Amino acid sequence: MTIAYISHPDCLLHQMGEGHPEKPNRLNAIEDQLIASGIFDLLQHHQAPLATVRQLERVHDSKYIEEVLSFEHKNKSAYLDPDTMITPQTPKAALRSAGALILATDLVLKGKIRQAYCNVRPPGHHALPSQAMGFCFFNNVAVGAAHAIAEYGIKRIAIIDFDVHHGNGTETMFTHEPRVMLCSTFQHPFYPFSGASSGNEHIINTPLSAGTSGDKYRETILSVWLPALHKFKPELIFFSAGFDAHQEDHMSMLNLTDKDYSWITREILLIADKYAEGRVVSTLEGGYHLPSLARSVLNHLRILMRIE
Ligand SMILES: [Zn+2]
Repeated sequence: MTIAYISHPDCLLHQMGEGHPEKPNRLNAIEDQLIASGIFDLLQHHQAPLATVRQLERVHDSKYIEEVLSFEHKNKSAYLDPDTMITPQTPKAALRSAGALILATDLVLKGKIRQAYCNVRPPGHHALPSQAMGFCFFNNVAVGAAHAIAEYGIKRIAIIDFDVHHGNGTETMFTHEPRVMLCSTFQHPFYPFSGASSGNEHIINTPLSAGTSGDKYRETILSVWLPALHKFKPELIFFSAGFDAHQEDHMSMLNLTDKDYSWITREILLIADKYAEGRVVSTLEGGYHLPSLARSVLNHLRILMRIE
């Protein structure tokens, strides 16, 4: 079964300087792996559109959007937070990343395809309503979820955030929105040092200590996430798909393997099949060790495509 694959060359233009881990080659490494595996030709390819200001305003403040976009016409770069540099090329890349989620949501909710994956950067899940943070400018997955609510009246959306960092931006945006359930696993204590003492009935935070391996990780998903998801019965599922909890990725101290990413994708796909007519939109968040990132995305897509 094919899935939509949404990306855009503009996503490669944003660069935060020599040696920064959130680099354009992340997307190239993933694409190379998909090509080498033979899967690339089986995907339904789409170019990401630019998100509109109106679509961003569902989750971001107008003044902040204006500030980010203004850099397109400035001849300089600036640090919006200590890890996050904006350049004149950033606004276009950030608009394509958020726009990919709009297109993915449209394709899936119009019934044109069951699943979509967005191979985009900059990532989004740390972006707050009026603040860039942790390599993120616009909260792509939140823009997609808000679009599904506003345009299609979806009443129950689950966001599955398995990035190694807490999805603090997404939590902030939906903490008072019971139509969105956020399930976030993350190393704790660890950047951004939030999530352990927040959450509510529809924000399911599952902090994990450094050194956690796949067995303990799976146990947590089975005992915390899956019961919550079965109770919630999502009509649409998003993945904030970060692969930086991989044991080969030295960004963190969790020890997941390729197989763990396949496992969680399969478990969530079962939920999607049961309650959401299989509707899944996945978008790239973190993942900085290129070989393990590329293999893990390949496995994630293989499961979504039901190849194994
Ligand atoms: Zn991360």
